Amino acid sequence: MITITLVQGDITAQHADAIVNAANSSLLGGGGVDGAIHRKGGPAILDACRDLRASRYGRGLPVGQAVATTAGNLDATWVIHTVGPVWSRTEDRSAELASCYRESLRVADELGARSVVFPAISTGIFGWPMDDGARIALRTVRDAGSASRVAEARFVLFGADAYGVFEEALAELGH
Ligand code: ADP
Repeated sequence: MITITLVQGDITAQHADAIVNAANSSLLGGGGVDGAIHRKGGPAILDACRDLRASRYGRGLPVGQAVATTAGNLDATWVIHTVGPVWSRTEDRSAELASCYRESLRVADELGARSVVFPAISTGIFGWPMDDGARIALRTVRDAGSASRVAEARFVLFGADAYGVFEEALAELGH
């Protein structure tokens, strides 16, 4: 059984075993959460990402997958990078978004992480509507969490609006 908690704030200020990054396929940095993690975490994270591009992920990290690196100067042991889908009006990419959460939890479990913080993946630059993104996030983490040793999944929401949407979605889920 996994406990899901919600926090309003900046994900880079969190203490946890693992911090999930809403990365892009290049793994070489971007805006939003990704930019903030690299700024605060320092160059060790980018170095590790470059190593991944030079080895396992020569063509980048595919959408829906997850991979861990050091957390550099962040107050965590690992950053788990995952690539969310860009929201589409014409194509249902929910399975890929769910996969980000499931794969991040799987990687966290493999590492032995007990606490994991998540951003609202794809709901920023990638344009996913917050309410739908929240439902997919919470349902997937609850379901996948029951089979993992991760004890706490903490969603860190940027701003009161996002926090409110997650709060409502969590209540709907009856968690
Ligand atoms: P994506 O490209 O997957 O959409 P973003 O990083 O642009 O990723 O945004 C994902 C979500 O994270 C958005 O809801 C955004 O408002 C939020 N966000 C941006 N910066 C931070 C931060 N420092 N801490 C927590 N959440 C953040």
